Amino acid sequence: MTKLECSVTNCVHNADRCCCKSSILVDGHKASSAEDTCCASFDESKGGVFTNLFKTPETRLEVSCDAEKCMYNEDRRCVADKISINGDGAAQCGETRCSTFKAR
Ligand code: SF4
Ligand code: SF4
Repeated sequence: MTKLECSVTNCVHNADRCCCKSSILVDGHKASSAEDTCCASFDESKGGVFTNLFKTPETRLEVSCDAEKCMYNEDRRCVADKISINGDGAAQCGETRCSTFKAR
């Protein structure tokens, strides 16, 4: 399980800069830098109705990841102890990234 911090506060799954999902998918099949990765589980919060009031932030979660060129990727799973997802204000998942990506 990976400790995850997420600054994408406008994602519906975000609460207190943590993710409320029990697992996420990071995309970036051909990624060779953090900019080429993104959180595929991102959903834009349109405000109002769909708030996270009753959700609990998860500090550790399962992270599946397609960025096989990252040194923390083992069999498409993230084995880093801690990762940071960034991209506050993103309107689509492509505007987010895993800043912890490190090329092998
Ligand atoms: S962008 Fe990804 S990691 Fe961040 S809160 Fe949303 S689903 Fe969770
Ligand atoms: S640290 Fe690497 S393996 Fe882990 S989620 Fe980020 S890009 Fe994927």
